[in-house]
Amino acid sequence: MRTLEDLRQRCRIDPDEGDDGCWLFDHSHAYVAGAEGTGVMASRRAAWILAHGKPVKAGYRVFGKCGERGCVNPAHLRALDPAEHGRSVAASGALKGVARRVLANRAIGRNRAKLTAEMVAQINASPDTGVALARRYGVSTETISKARRSGYACHGAQTNPWAGLMKGRR
Ligand SMILES: [Zn+2]
Repeated sequence: MRTLEDLRQRCRIDPDEGDDGCWLFDHSHAYVAGAEGTGVMASRRAAWILAHGKPVKAGYRVFGKCGERGCVNPAHLRALDPAEHGRSVAASGALKGVARRVLANRAIGRNRAKLTAEMVAQINASPDTGVALARRYGVSTETISKARRSGYACHGAQTNPWAGLMKGRR
């Protein structure tokens, strides 16, 4: 997707709330092709970048303010470094006890983060380092290494990233 409108059209939005309400996006990652950045990235990061027209500052992550999982409405997002996010959670009495859950969910989310076949093909076609790829796809460098060893990089992968997949499907 290239614009925020592309993303918005893929979201479930309560017609009564309109664009001010939550934009529910069913995917954890989105492919963005824009001047601000190209690649597969976390959906919230994609929404933030498309809305602001600039990359997220190094070391910053995009967090949701509304508490709705899967919401990518840019008005409900903010970019914070993790320490700031921790402080803002701790400062809110209403969220006492939630911090632990947030951390737990984040840990689960990280473990659950899986690469799609398409991502694996892109990883195998990419000349970038494992560290750079791990950051781009939001997974560990170990996961990237596994993806690279997984066999999707069959002969011809450099000219056709789908070659390995098609071979596997036969
Ligand atoms: Zn929301």
